[in-house]
Amino acid sequence: MSKIYLDSVSTTKINDEVLAAYKKLLEDYYNPDSLYDEGVKINDLQERSRENIAKALRVKSKEIIFTSGASEANNLALKGLAFANPLKKHIISSYYEHSSVYNALEQLRRVFGYEITYLYPDHKGIVSKEAILKALRADTLLVSIMHVNNEIGAINDISAIGKALKADHRVYFHADCTQSLGKLPLDLDYVDLASFSAHKIHGIKGSGFLYKRDGVNIEPLISGGQQEFSLRGGTSNAPANIILAKTVRLALDFQKDNYDQISALHDHCLKELEKIPKVRINSFKDGIKTIINFSTPILSEVMVNALNLKGIMVSSKSTCTSKSKSHSRSLEALNINDDYAIRISFDYDNTFEEIDRFIEALKEIIDKYEYRQI
Ligand code: PMP
Repeated sequence: MSKIYLDSVSTTKINDEVLAAYKKLLEDYYNPDSLYDEGVKINDLQERSRENIAKALRVKSKEIIFTSGASEANNLALKGLAFANPLKKHIISSYYEHSSVYNALEQLRRVFGYEITYLYPDHKGIVSKEAILKALRADTLLVSIMHVNNEIGAINDISAIGKALKADHRVYFHADCTQSLGKLPLDLDYVDLASFSAHKIHGIKGSGFLYKRDGVNIEPLISGGQQEFSLRGGTSNAPANIILAKTVRLALDFQKDNYDQISALHDHCLKELEKIPKVRINSFKDGIKTIINFSTPILSEVMVNALNLKGIMVSSKSTCTSKSKSHSRSLEALNINDDYAIRISFDYDNTFEEIDRFIEALKEIIDKYEYRQI
């Protein structure tokens, strides 16, 4: 029987069209910074890609910085801004950010003496603009709040937060938009810095970008040559950067249809999960439809393995911390015991039949292991 992938929040299958075009691009090995025709051609393609991504997000070309993914974009945004503005040493964020934000901020605290205020989500799982405004200080440099949480699926209103911050405060606003691109409407009007990743939207791994509003000063983390406006040294990964425009375009062109399909799968799965007496839903009603987080009486580790044996791929927490012994900050922030939590996620390439098979497998495992535990 074919395997079932319910972990698209972790990564996605590469779109066929993207893969075919990417393979061809790999043959064009020239350095985009070379001055002969072959290099110029690659550079032109890379700059056209930047332009097209910018157009799709309604921003300027020079506001797009190619990176190796969202982890790097997050690091570049946070540390780059801090290094360029050494006089303000307070940053506001949330306790349930992705590890690439949280650990970058922890490094700023440990090594560079920054003070970080970590806000907790409210009963709806979101970080309110009121809580953020209350935490502001005269020396606050930056607020960093993720658009969509990757474990619980809560959606933060980055437009409202950005608007409130811009109204009367001189503070920068960064949003990690990794989980919302291609799923939710994106409004960067009040955002100074935003991070994105290709492999969450059926693109290739090791590819992403940072949106940096024109006029916002940051320092490079990789000092080197003139690449990426001198903000990221090193020979450009031109094939990845060139194919990113197609990846983003496909995600945005089909966003509505894809999200409708994802929503239908989500609603069906949620309805079936709610019928299982031993299952408790942890995610929120108005969260993103790509994610359902729930708990069962079975330890997460046992459940992930048992589902794996049945050919079903799910996670217990963020894949970036799946091998660490540390607790999930997202679940801890919401008072959810992560020992029993499971995260499933959907994409447009999942089917209703897969959901039904998953539900049957889950019921069988709960019956079998619960009996054993007694
Ligand atoms: N932020 C969020 C919210 C994520 O879900 C992820 C991927 N797990 C990242 C950042 C890191 O993305 P990448 O793998 O492109 O570094």
